[in-house]
Amino acid sequence: MKELTHYIGGEHVKGTSGRFSDVFNPATGEVQAKCPLASTEEFGKAVDIAAAAQPKWGATNPQRRARVMMEFVRLLNRDMDKLAEALSAEHGKTFPDAKGDVQRGLEVVEYCIGAPQLLKGEFTDSAGPGIDMYSMRQPLGVTGGITPFNFPAMIPMWMFAPAIACGNAFILKPSERDPSVPLMLAELMEEAGLPKGILQVVNGDKESVDAMLDHPVVQSIGFVGSTPIAEYIYGRGCSNGKRVQCFGGAKNHMIIMPDADMDQAADALIGSGYGAAGERCMAISVAVPVGDETADRLIEKLVPRIEKLKVGPYTAGDDVDYGPVVTAEAKKKILGLVEKGIEQGAELVVDGRDFSLQGYEDGFFVGPHLFDKVKPDMDIYTQEIFGPVLSTVRAGSYEEALGLAMDHEYGNGTAIFTRDGDAARDFANRINIGMVGVNVPIPVPLAYHTFGGWKKSAFGDLNQHGPDAFKFYTRTKTVTARWPSGIKDGGEFNFKAMD
Ligand code: NAD
Repeated sequence: MKELTHYIGGEHVKGTSGRFSDVFNPATGEVQAKCPLASTEEFGKAVDIAAAAQPKWGATNPQRRARVMMEFVRLLNRDMDKLAEALSAEHGKTFPDAKGDVQRGLEVVEYCIGAPQLLKGEFTDSAGPGIDMYSMRQPLGVTGGITPFNFPAMIPMWMFAPAIACGNAFILKPSERDPSVPLMLAELMEEAGLPKGILQVVNGDKESVDAMLDHPVVQSIGFVGSTPIAEYIYGRGCSNGKRVQCFGGAKNHMIIMPDADMDQAADALIGSGYGAAGERCMAISVAVPVGDETADRLIEKLVPRIEKLKVGPYTAGDDVDYGPVVTAEAKKKILGLVEKGIEQGAELVVDGRDFSLQGYEDGFFVGPHLFDKVKPDMDIYTQEIFGPVLSTVRAGSYEEALGLAMDHEYGNGTAIFTRDGDAARDFANRINIGMVGVNVPIPVPLAYHTFGGWKKSAFGDLNQHGPDAFKFYTRTKTVTARWPSGIKDGGEFNFKAMD
């Protein structure tokens, strides 16, 4: 049995707490590794190392820090297949999807190469007689992040790349379900030239999370995961005086107007509803066709497409549409909610409950499900299922469809499919959701914009990546300076390289 490690002070370090969790191969159901769960003391050691290393890194000029990011991008491309392979093996997602996971993180690293430009301050010449005023952005010190299982490459990079480009040290507590890729990323950052102790990986569960929340040296915490944990971390972190941003769960609605291209809408729903087995925070889990005729046409288009979906292990080739879910527990929860949906009166149009894959009977595969006539008070509508289950809620009008998405407690992403520019514009303006797609089902903003939901999908006031990340990972200091007199000699006439 492979025993995974922490990555502390530039070395792979064995866990000493005596506590471990199982890392599964979701396709076979077998345990493939043991992940150490750090104690408060082990976490504290990483903080001490980070605190000792950070001042020098923070004082390194931003262009040099950016060069580490540049080299890291090269190494990510070099090792893309290796990273994607390790990711698929622990998470279960298909190989092309695993590469996408690395790629969308890599793009944020590319954005961070702009650190010298992004960290430039503000300057007012002669704010008063002989007075100049300037603002600078300084690193926070030791920062930390807690990440979910569903994007084990992308989300850690969304956090540590801007944190480190800004001059901070960063301690990552990744998901204990798929910790191997985060460990590989930490190694690659050092190969790219990052000093030891600036990026560390401490594996663990609630104990190490609480250690991060309570440690006085940790200045900021980024969290991505489910909403109950997001609320907990936000509350405890803020009351401990830290800067905290937490991103939670989702229930993303796609409104399908009667004038939409129904083939395009159905294709979009297949990819966004069932891709990655529905384990994406930007997955569409609710289809809202406007009018019964639209709903009937949509269902008619969806059913044959769903029946053609190929579910299998990532090793079965690139034509697999989606893989297993992450654990047996996740599978049980999903199938439990499907039963609840039937009990509460929703119509199960495509039933994936009996799905089984020859040779992989113990894998965590879940067949695709489609519900019709789902009502807003049903559990399958109020709760995040996080599996390959698409619910259809029929709306009588555009206003009713808009109201459904507005009234749901989550507000991560949404989409409208229509040919009517006026409806699309009205939707984008009025909806109380953070990321909106117009004829685009998964509107994940690119690295140079910011990512974040509203309502119970996010806590805190700054989004992930883009310009917001450079605000989150720095503090502003403003200097008002007066120089009453001087001798004005001793000029330097030769160009010198900056050290
Ligand atoms: P999770 O909340 O179970 O775990 C997330 C992290 O929190 C993990 O590192 C885990 O070890 C830690 N954790 C779990 N229980 C804890 C506890 N009691 N105390 C302290 N820490 C704890 O989430 P998950 O199952 O890994 O990920 C799926 C969830 O993440 C879904 O709800 C999904 O919507 C959400 N998600 C949101 C976004 C976003 O940007 N909004 C992105 C990806 C995933």
